[in-house]
Amino acid sequence: MTMDARFRPVVIAGGGIAGLTAALAFAQRGFAVEVYEQAARIETVGAGIQLSPNATHILASLGVLERLLPMAVQPEAVVLKDAASLKERARVPLGAFAEQRWQSPYLTAHRADVQAALVARMAETTGIRLLTGARLTRIGIDTDSVVGTFERDGILCEPVGSLMIGADGVWSKVRELPGLAGKSRFTGELAWRVTVAADSAAGKTFASIGAAGCVTAFLHSGFHLIAYPVSAGAAINLVAFTKGERIAESWSGHTDPIILTKALRGAAPALTRLITEAGAWLAWPLHAVDQKPAWTLPQGVALIGDAAHAMTPFAAQGAGMAIEDAATLAACLAETPANVTHALRNWEQQRKPRVAKVARRGALNHLAWHAVGPVALARNLVLALRPSQRLAADLDWLYGWRVPSTGAEPLA
Ligand SMILES: Cc1cc2nc3c(=O)[nH]c(=O)nc-3n(C[C@H](O)[C@H](O)[C@H](O)COP(=O)(O)OP(=O)(O)OC[C@H]3O[C@@H](n4cnc5c(N)ncnc54)[C@H](O)[C@@H]3O)c2cc1C
Repeated sequence: MTMDARFRPVVIAGGGIAGLTAALAFAQRGFAVEVYEQAARIETVGAGIQLSPNATHILASLGVLERLLPMAVQPEAVVLKDAASLKERARVPLGAFAEQRWQSPYLTAHRADVQAALVARMAETTGIRLLTGARLTRIGIDTDSVVGTFERDGILCEPVGSLMIGADGVWSKVRELPGLAGKSRFTGELAWRVTVAADSAAGKTFASIGAAGCVTAFLHSGFHLIAYPVSAGAAINLVAFTKGERIAESWSGHTDPIILTKALRGAAPALTRLITEAGAWLAWPLHAVDQKPAWTLPQGVALIGDAAHAMTPFAAQGAGMAIEDAATLAACLAETPANVTHALRNWEQQRKPRVAKVARRGALNHLAWHAVGPVALARNLVLALRPSQRLAADLDWLYGWRVPSTGAEPLA
């Protein structure tokens, strides 16, 4: 595709973290942007989110971070605890240490606050049209360009853009185009989520067994539970991961809590109490997208965020990768706007190894956190011998990453 991307808007399907960040990143580089979001208003899916310095650095450059900070929390550390004995196994310092080491804060926040900060920033940015209640219902390739049909209030529209960005999440419609990955697959894991007030019974139980003001991970062979403060510390986000059956193909739903209760066997009584006191847990089936197929098509299509590479959240980087995708894609397009195909190819080559490495890190975390017997003993020994500073240094490649100053290789 050789049309100059500056002469037509960039069309984005999906107004989640990926789509909204992409809108800001493209607008910042002078492109006109149209975002089509199926929901009637920008809504949050799920509760809390951890945003590491690789992501917050980009949000700062887009003017989003300053809007988010008042509602976010800068946790002091990530603390790994044994779910049976509640003994601390490891601690990675965050807070001021993270900000200094990785030049940007590590935050925990409610997703509503992240989305609100993105939308507020978009409202003050020229060149962005956000259309809610607009669902992509059909997508196809017509000779050498992509045609997406959006339905809004019963009216169909087919925006003519320079680039179609599929930021439409794990159930992506854009991904149905021939040559892309198609359907996601169920990973066999369920995520159980609930948010409790810090001053509730559950919040107080957590304070008595967790590391207050930290991201605490409770490790167990049958599950792991991550807990951290959100909403400027007024609430605690809890998310537990267990094996489970495939449930409805949607983000969340009520499912039989017996799965969670059974997985807790052997956990400390206080932890079991926390899970009971927290109330109604929502179960999310974790789906993943095969990362091998293409994320771009030469006709001017790019998948970003979960649409491209939904992964299990064990490295807490899905949104981080979505934010990185958005910023790097805009950088690549800005570098060779007259050759969209070239820019897309460069972007994909740049992103795939990084995202694959992050996914491998998540798989390793899962293996280590659910270890049993001798493997668990070895893990505990390694963690005990490794100073906190070394654990932090192991994350430099991840948290210290920055958008490359040159997004694309020179044109041949
Ligand atoms: C339990 C759990 C915990 C997690 N924790 C973390 C964490 O701590 N840190 C982290 O970085 N990541 C985390 N993640 C991953 C993170 O939530 C996702 O990677 C991220 O939200 C993906 O954003 P997205 O914009 O790509 O997709 P989505 O958030 O799914 O957004 C897609 C948007 O597209 C819209 N859409 C869909 N179809 C259409 C259509 N046909 N037409 C128009 N619009 C459409 C949807 O309505 C939605 O608004 C976690 C995930 C889970 C499940």
